[in-house]
Amino acid sequence: LSALTAGWPGDVPFTFRLGSTIATGASVNVGSIETSVHAGTHCDAPFHFNDAGATVDRVPLDAFLGSCSVVHLTDLTDWRGDLARLHPDGQVPPRLLFRTGSWPDSSRFPIAVPSIPVEQAEWLAANGLRLFGVDLPSVDPLDSKNLAVHHALARHGTAILEGLWLDGVPEGQYELIALPLRLAGADGSPVRAVLRNAFG
Ligand SMILES: [Zn+2]
Repeated sequence: LSALTAGWPGDVPFTFRLGSTIATGASVNVGSIETSVHAGTHCDAPFHFNDAGATVDRVPLDAFLGSCSVVHLTDLTDWRGDLARLHPDGQVPPRLLFRTGSWPDSSRFPIAVPSIPVEQAEWLAANGLRLFGVDLPSVDPLDSKNLAVHHALARHGTAILEGLWLDGVPEGQYELIALPLRLAGADGSPVRAVLRNAFG
């Protein structure tokens, strides 16, 4: 997150400023931030798109920790062939991150992005997917009003990560660590998303 991070148009941009500074005589440097919780890499809590949904301080954390598959999408309209490359047995992994490469410059908000068809998201979630993440600002089309993919995932308790930075991440299996902050009453949270090689 930096002043260069492109947020959603009209959203509160990320800013960081130092209130007191050692340079001006304070004993410490003390900074503060202001930001939409949907800037940069973040999770969406169900409350983001459902008034009755859980806020981010109440979402189960186990979805954000554990084994994870990163798939490079070559067909943005149908991911099934790409997933089968990594999971030829047809099993749905517990966590799945799609690298689309469709948002190459994080300092410019994209005009349009690909999205997974809602029935495919529903199928993944119904078959045990616990977390779904993309290298895009949203799992739905940017102009979506009903957020159908968000709702389809949430119906099955599948957590959502957006704005992932997957440049240079090879396709494969990893351990994911991407815990949200415990922001009381919030509709989402920035996360520091880390992929660890399963073999150390
Ligand atoms: Zn979001």
